[in-house]
Amino acid sequence: MSTAGLSLPPEPMLPTPNVRRVVLVVLDGLRPDAIPRFDLVHTAALAKQGASTMFGRTVNPSVTACAMASLLTGASPERHGLQGDRFHIPRATGPLHPLPRVLAEHGLPSTAFLARLPLMFIPIGHRIAAHVGTKARFAGRSAQDIVTVAQKTLRAQREGLILLHFPDADRIGHERGWMSDAYAAAARDMDAALGRVVTEVRTDDPSTLIIALADHGGGGARSDHHNSDHPLDRTIPVILAGGAVRREALPNGTSLLDVPPTVLAALGVPQPESYPGVALTAALGLPSLVAA
Ligand SMILES: [Zn+2]
Repeated sequence: MSTAGLSLPPEPMLPTPNVRRVVLVVLDGLRPDAIPRFDLVHTAALAKQGASTMFGRTVNPSVTACAMASLLTGASPERHGLQGDRFHIPRATGPLHPLPRVLAEHGLPSTAFLARLPLMFIPIGHRIAAHVGTKARFAGRSAQDIVTVAQKTLRAQREGLILLHFPDADRIGHERGWMSDAYAAAARDMDAALGRVVTEVRTDDPSTLIIALADHGGGGARSDHHNSDHPLDRTIPVILAGGAVRREALPNGTSLLDVPPTVLAALGVPQPESYPGVALTAALGLPSLVAA
């Protein structure tokens, strides 16, 4: 099923490293330096087992709505048009090929699990999900709640994309400041929830690619915010793990925009022209998709 302007001509599948599904975990507001400082053991272990960088960078502006829209459309904020910290149907400046729709055109399902929205935002949340072509569950308040709600799907959905958004560190960062004691506790809660995801999907399984990243940092320009070009606001951890991933460093400066192309490359789906990012193919043992 496709909508005019959002459809892709069917193209042959690309070679893949046996990956059938991608579990994408967004650790909202998790600064890379929080991982060693607060002893986030599960996140650190995942980074060590897989391919990772603690010097990834998010989009501009470094706010959740823009970063999530970029993850879901593959497009930069300039292109998808969502440039503030407010969820709405964006006014795009060019054709968009939302990741779940592109996957659906190749027969692959997508499911998203996000924190419960305030009641008045639930209709718009579902409209945005339908707009990008995914089923969304808005349930629970914390990363732990979200993993509990997602557990059945993590067991049953063996192909396509499963997106989990963990809100804890960002919420507490706004309330109490980035790197505060309360932030440390929230970051540990997200870490424990990530540990549950890893236990569920297993990192030795070559058919599942796990991608964990933050959507932005925080505490750069202001202790309780993250919307600036300060490196502490813009720098994010990016981690790929799973049986298909080579244990190596990702390039510093790996962009959040490289994640959607990586999801597609891992699943053997061609990358639309509207995606400016570059698939992290070396970490997956795939040849580069960029023409020399
Ligand atoms: Zn925020």
